[in-house]
Amino acid sequence: MFATLSDRLTATFKNLRGKGRLSEADIDATAREIRIALLEADVALPVVKDFVAAVKERARGEEVSGALNPAQQVVKIVNDELVNILGGETRRLRYAKSGPTVIMLAGLQGAGKTTLAAKLALWLKEQGKTPMLVACDLQRPNAVNQLQVNGERAGVPVYAPEPGNGVGDPVAVAKASIEDAKRKLHDVVIVDTAGRLGVDAEMMAQAAAIRDAVQPDEVLFVVDAMIGQDALTTAQAFLEGVGYDGVVLTKLDGDARGGAALSIRQVTGRPVMFASSGEKLTDFDLFHPDRMASRILD
Ligand code: GDP
Repeated sequence: MFATLSDRLTATFKNLRGKGRLSEADIDATAREIRIALLEADVALPVVKDFVAAVKERARGEEVSGALNPAQQVVKIVNDELVNILGGETRRLRYAKSGPTVIMLAGLQGAGKTTLAAKLALWLKEQGKTPMLVACDLQRPNAVNQLQVNGERAGVPVYAPEPGNGVGDPVAVAKASIEDAKRKLHDVVIVDTAGRLGVDAEMMAQAAAIRDAVQPDEVLFVVDAMIGQDALTTAQAFLEGVGYDGVVLTKLDGDARGGAALSIRQVTGRPVMFASSGEKLTDFDLFHPDRMASRILD
């Protein structure tokens, strides 16, 4: 296991005596420890650099006094800055003023989109919404079936092309699904789209075409926290190729420290909105910046 930042800084400051401001040498030693802790948590290097510079600046101005020892004081600064960058308050879904709210999911294959679609649907249902799931991942042979199975588990209807209709046209399916949702008075439509194993121009073009057809209220980029540093490059590619309003981090039940959340937030400016943490449909929650800050630091 990695040492926590708190342990590292306690060791750094063990020779610090008395009160007053931290010396430049103390601040440099502190910066080094923070840099290592963030890199171990998978935060991207340019983000780490900016972050450390900001913390150094704040640490320079702080008096070493009061109830906290220097290590605790620096950890508090780091924690506050992390929460701040991660978005402060949790960003909530924006619902359409009239007609169904359309939420479109985009991300790589295996990111956890189909699972997430059902989790989100169940979560919305528990809040009194009447969601409908739409299977627009017509690329992966089993994706429609998987969404149907998950939809059934969540007790949420799934709009899908009829079996035997060939590969189907996901844009046409997406468009027709919105009309169907209006007729059946569903108030939220969750559109699952196809991903590929890697970033791919055709996949991006298809997702963008679905986006244009359904005019989503929210596009959510779904990303596996376990892919570590690659999460940021994928996030940037999807921002350019499709665009999105918020991020869902999946597989947080694994041992990923979650630095991807910080990198993506900082570089794309898009908030992480939801956290997915297991294979059960209830392993899902709003994203809490303060919890993620502790995870990155511990
Ligand atoms: P998609 O290709 O993006 O639609 O991804 P899937 O929803 O099919 O998920 C890929 C795999 O990851 C499946 O085996 C899921 O059961 C699993 N999975 C999805 N979300 C999570 C999660 O939060 N935690 C864990 N441990 N597994 C997950």
